[in-house]
Amino acid sequence: MPDNRSELILNLFKESNALLRGHFKLTSGKHSEWYFEKIRLIERPVVLEKIIDLLVADIEKDNPEFDYVVSPAYGGIAIGFLTALKLKKLFAFTQRVEEKMTVRSGFSGLNGSRAIIVEDILTTGGSVQEVLECLKSMQVRVSGIYCLVDRSAGQVLIEGQPVRSLLPLKVEAFEPEACPLCRQGLPLVKPGASDKK
Ligand SMILES: [Zn+2]
Repeated sequence: MPDNRSELILNLFKESNALLRGHFKLTSGKHSEWYFEKIRLIERPVVLEKIIDLLVADIEKDNPEFDYVVSPAYGGIAIGFLTALKLKKLFAFTQRVEEKMTVRSGFSGLNGSRAIIVEDILTTGGSVQEVLECLKSMQVRVSGIYCLVDRSAGQVLIEGQPVRSLLPLKVEAFEPEACPLCRQGLPLVKPGASDKK
């Protein structure tokens, strides 16, 4: 059963074109079997909705008590908003103002409420940690942290706990001379010009 679900999730990410499998040259110069084009998660709302339905099912199963879904801008906004809509909860987002993670001004009832944090892709956990600290400073009780993809495959811990993810996926990057994909003779693809590192 878990295998079927993992397969379903993996296929949805492939369908969104956010997760590409092959042989990629990363900006670091290293080679990888997987490549994420994170913005594509929100390019196809119909596919994203199917992904969010699975996340919502996990959240419902955990049954945390919360009033708000809070997500960091910008990638998390569509994802957190859709999650909040499906769970009939409130939504707020954070953004960096002069480097500091801050709740966007104008959200009215967050102070002292209960919240879960929803992020798109977890890499180092830095953003989620900052959102958590920001919420704590507003006396918000955080009852769960979720992400769609955990690129650390559970290795990133927030307050000693791994973040609940739909897709835990460790992305290994190889030096070209040690790359098993090169050894297999797979053609190397350099993903197109991108504005991210
Ligand atoms: Zn290679």
